[in-house]
Amino acid sequence: MSTERLYYVNSHLHEFSANVVSCEPSPKHEGQYQVILDKTAFFPEGGGQLADTGTIGASRVTDVHEKNGIIVHYVNLPLEPGLEYRCSLDWEQRWRRMQNHSGEHIFSGLVHRNFGFENVGFHMGPAFMTLDFSGELREEDICFLEKSANEKVRDNIPVKAFFPTAQEQETLSYRSKKEILSDLRLVEIPGVDLCACCAPHVSSTGEVGIVKVLDHMRHRGGTRLSLICGMDAFENFREMQNSATGVSRLLSAKREEIVHAVSRLLSEKETAKEKHSKLAMEYVRLRAESIPENEGNIILFENTLDEPAQRELVNLLSAKCKGFAAVFCGEDGATYRYIFGSEHTDLRALAPLINEKVSGKGSGKSSMISGRALADRSVIVKALEDLI
Ligand SMILES: [Zn+2]
Repeated sequence: MSTERLYYVNSHLHEFSANVVSCEPSPKHEGQYQVILDKTAFFPEGGGQLADTGTIGASRVTDVHEKNGIIVHYVNLPLEPGLEYRCSLDWEQRWRRMQNHSGEHIFSGLVHRNFGFENVGFHMGPAFMTLDFSGELREEDICFLEKSANEKVRDNIPVKAFFPTAQEQETLSYRSKKEILSDLRLVEIPGVDLCACCAPHVSSTGEVGIVKVLDHMRHRGGTRLSLICGMDAFENFREMQNSATGVSRLLSAKREEIVHAVSRLLSEKETAKEKHSKLAMEYVRLRAESIPENEGNIILFENTLDEPAQRELVNLLSAKCKGFAAVFCGEDGATYRYIFGSEHTDLRALAPLINEKVSGKGSGKSSMISGRALADRSVIVKALEDLI
């Protein structure tokens, strides 16, 4: 005998009493029990909506599945068959899922009515929903759809669910992801959507609160959207507001002007970077001039140079010595970025030996090699002093 589904009669029912028909240890999960009730408001996973959680008596419901019309509750403590228990859903979670799911029906129904595209993918993630549509929606289409969806929320249209007769199934035009459905259940939002769905929904569109598109992108010839509704949308707004306020305070700019302020900051950063590069090159030129010509190797440690300046310094120094010029940038305990240059020695052939001595990794051409060294400064100096 199939379980009586209370969530079909009243999707807002979250406290109820039911009799335990059976309770058996779960064959798959140790310490878990499979409980069947005579009736339940716990929704098993389906239609993209996750299974409810909650309690039956003192036992915690962690998952709910349906098998051949029987709804099985997975719980952590055994329950006594024949006894009646007080049951409670994690209502806040279920409520948010219904808000999101019904909001998705509104949005997908409007996409179908206005553009004829099908919803070909639906995932309810922990942070937002992901919806895939079979055709491309432009930015202005999405703005229109988002506004229309919220107008439908404002209109507070009753959401109806029913099991159509065989004749109705043939005559009604409804959205569906599957071709053949036994026990077909339709969720109707008059003037907005008619869709096959087994999940509990809000009673009227007003309960959705708000429908908000977070992001959209082209996907497999169609459109992928991130959508969020109700309390989840409210919390998302609060998080974004906090971020915007944080940026606004950091930049001492009004919140509505933060984009302009960030763009000015980036432009200032670019100018500073250019100035810094020029100064670094000037420093490199003076530094190279300060080093006398040398018959052997030149080894320098420079902590503040970026790679182009380091390379330039190596170029200038390798013209001043008969061995190699090596410049290391970094510090002990981390890694050193090294560049070696030489006009007289084949550095590519020498690279394996250099890497071995400085615990490094790197390669290049015969006149210049670069890489990273793990060894400390004192070890590097000692290892390289007598290399050539
Ligand atoms: Zn649905």
